Amino acid sequence: MSVVIKLLELQELEIEIAALEKAITEARSNLGESQALKKARVDAVKWDNHLRQLTSRQKDLELQSQELDAKLKNVNEKLYSGRVTNPKELTNLQQEADLLGTKAARVDEETIAVMEQTEKASDACKQSQHTLKEEEDSSRIEQKKLKEEIEDMLQKLGLLKQRHAQMSGEIPPQVLQQYERIKMQKGIAVARVSHGSCGGCRINLSTSQLQRVRNEPLERCANCGRILFSE
Ligand SMILES: [Zn+2]
Repeated sequence: MSVVIKLLELQELEIEIAALEKAITEARSNLGESQALKKARVDAVKWDNHLRQLTSRQKDLELQSQELDAKLKNVNEKLYSGRVTNPKELTNLQQEADLLGTKAARVDEETIAVMEQTEKASDACKQSQHTLKEEEDSSRIEQKKLKEEIEDMLQKLGLLKQRHAQMSGEIPPQVLQQYERIKMQKGIAVARVSHGSCGGCRINLSTSQLQRVRNEPLERCANCGRILFSE
């Protein structure tokens, strides 16, 4: 195998390694909770809190209703017991009974409204829990898959790096040094010759240079300085 072919293979190996490292970084950035899962968790907590508030409000209203009923019963007992005969006092009791009745009606009205809201919130709470569970399940599967993919890529990367070290060892050090220097300057050190021009800078090569590319081991492009390779 000519040294140029070895350099070309080394270069292709390096491109492959760089792409794989990029893919690993990208995959790693996707590890952890997805946006959808985070949102589902926030929603579930929100609905749960809302439902608790409503349930607590409902209990308050029940207590208020019981207290008002007890007071009203008390007032009515006095009112119809026959013990109170003073007309002014009777009128006062009647007014108090009316007031308590009005309050009780208002509490009942709010209780009905809160019960309706509680029912809706309870449905939404169940739905949000369901969504959260689905997101958690799919996230678990996705994360597991992603970790396996990363594991596979790391394994492949290890093999490529091993191969790279092996190939580097097969190339004379001074050639490797030259290759590294061009790579630092140009990014890509070995350029394929295609239709008579340098694949790196696209400049047409002279007939004599094309001849040398075929016959001499390390011919460099007269324009960009890259090592030329021709099939
Ligand atoms: Zn060139």
